[in-house]
Amino acid sequence: MGPIKEAALDLTVADLLTSELKWNKKRIEELLPELSTQILCIKPSLTGAEDSFIWHQTSSGLYTTKSGYFAASMPLNQTCLARAEGEFSWIRDVWAGKFSPKMKTFLWSILQKAISLGSNLQRRGVTSAAGCVRCQETETDVHCFFTCQYAQKVWELVPLHRAVHLAAVTTFSDAVVQFRKALCLPPSGITQNILPWIVWSIWKSRNTLIFDGRGQTPGETALRGIKLAREWSTSQAQGEKGIKLSQTKRGQTRASHRGVTDLNRVTCKTDAAWNKDNLMAGLAWIFSGQKLEVPIKGSVIERSIGSPLIAEASALRSALCMAITLEITALDVFSDNLTLVRAISGITQAKEIIGIVKDIRSISTELASISFSHFSRSLNAEADALAKETLRASIPL
Ligand SMILES: [Zn+2]
Repeated sequence: MGPIKEAALDLTVADLLTSELKWNKKRIEELLPELSTQILCIKPSLTGAEDSFIWHQTSSGLYTTKSGYFAASMPLNQTCLARAEGEFSWIRDVWAGKFSPKMKTFLWSILQKAISLGSNLQRRGVTSAAGCVRCQETETDVHCFFTCQYAQKVWELVPLHRAVHLAAVTTFSDAVVQFRKALCLPPSGITQNILPWIVWSIWKSRNTLIFDGRGQTPGETALRGIKLAREWSTSQAQGEKGIKLSQTKRGQTRASHRGVTDLNRVTCKTDAAWNKDNLMAGLAWIFSGQKLEVPIKGSVIERSIGSPLIAEASALRSALCMAITLEITALDVFSDNLTLVRAISGITQAKEIIGIVKDIRSISTELASISFSHFSRSLNAEADALAKETLRASIPL
């Protein structure tokens, strides 16, 4: 902001903090007015946790070679998220695609022109004849998988929700982009991208014709692709259900076990409500247990909260401070935010809340016994309502 004033030449972050380790709002607004909102949204530890290095390219804040590679290969001022919507993206369209690893590798080899299509072989000097086995036109990826009469007939038999204009496809990556939203109609049982499976099936039929001399009808080819896609969709859906069930089961046995054995234990449910427009959050907590005559509820409004995760973490930290005041010694804390619970347990790290999580761990050591569990949002209705009410009441009409 203009020439640096002499007094501000050697400032460090610490100069923007108060002695209580909170942001010095006045100072920040004087020195860095354009960045004050963003700075105030960074939540440093209040208990004086050690500083640490954070890598900004991952949500955990931990460096990985993979993210380092992407950061280095990305042109300056352009991240993968900033790409235009209609542009082909290796991450979105291939590596993060909702299909099997085998299909990812297959798409990758088509896009790298590494499969033995006529045009690829000719380009590498392997063969001089590059004609399509069915119609003698040059066998490019676009021809083989989309514009060849045979391929077009196969695609006609795939029950797409929204037709893709195949004749207008110019490159394979262009087709991949166009097929992003071309989902299959409900009775097919396929909820994910159909493109790789049909392309794979067309490729199999083409090879069977060339190497075994056996032809397959477009109907057979389309059906095989649909079948493979459906098998993958079904197996994925089953996997998800399995994980959910085992999680609830474990949570239930733990809770009931504790309730029977220790009457001194207090349960704490926390939640937060967040307003994206004014960056305010309502934080709420409810303590209950045999030891307490009536449940103890508390809530507070916080400003400069940059995300729902920071709000949830702040709610939990405030609840722990309250637990210390209430002289609770054995506590079971519940949150419906899985990322937060995992960060506290050290399973994963989340860069936005590193300072708050360090505070939570540090305050926890003052209790004789403490546990953190994730539970379903449906069991947290009371704390949720309290947080929402607090947030609503705070906004001037
Ligand atoms: Zn052809």
